[in-house]
Amino acid sequence: MSEVHQGACFCGTVRIELTGDPETMGYCHCTSCRQWSGDPVHAYTIWQRDNVVVRAGAKSLATFQSSPDSLSHRQYCSKCGGHVMISHPELGIYDVFSGVSPGLKFVPTMHLNYAEAVLPMSDGLPKYKDFPFEFGGLRGSGVLMDE
Ligand SMILES: [Zn+2]
Ligand SMILES: [Zn+2]
Repeated sequence: MSEVHQGACFCGTVRIELTGDPETMGYCHCTSCRQWSGDPVHAYTIWQRDNVVVRAGAKSLATFQSSPDSLSHRQYCSKCGGHVMISHPELGIYDVFSGVSPGLKFVPTMHLNYAEAVLPMSDGLPKYKDFPFEFGGLRGSGVLMDE
């Protein structure tokens, strides 16, 4: 049996279940993540679609797209405004905000879009200028930056 982690929005209306392990965890420093989260860095956990299920409050799970062809469907609770996850349907993955599932230990392995960082972090982890060559269906430059 795979381990199951529970997740919820700030008010608890939207509840999700995460099965197994995330594909990867880390930090994204891109402007879009920073502006939507309202924080200097976004701590992400990436999951295959099949491993994420909305267990309650689906009607309160609102979605925002910055443009009709955006790859990011940002999902939040319409009652409390709490961020839940970012769906990337074309890539077949969900990016679940790390704080949504307190029982899931956050173990970051890399930094993405470090060229856009406003909060430098000296943790010894690889700092990608944009993305690794292959990342969840995306193709990046693979270029690493100094801390
Ligand atoms: Zn809520
Ligand atoms: Zn980002």
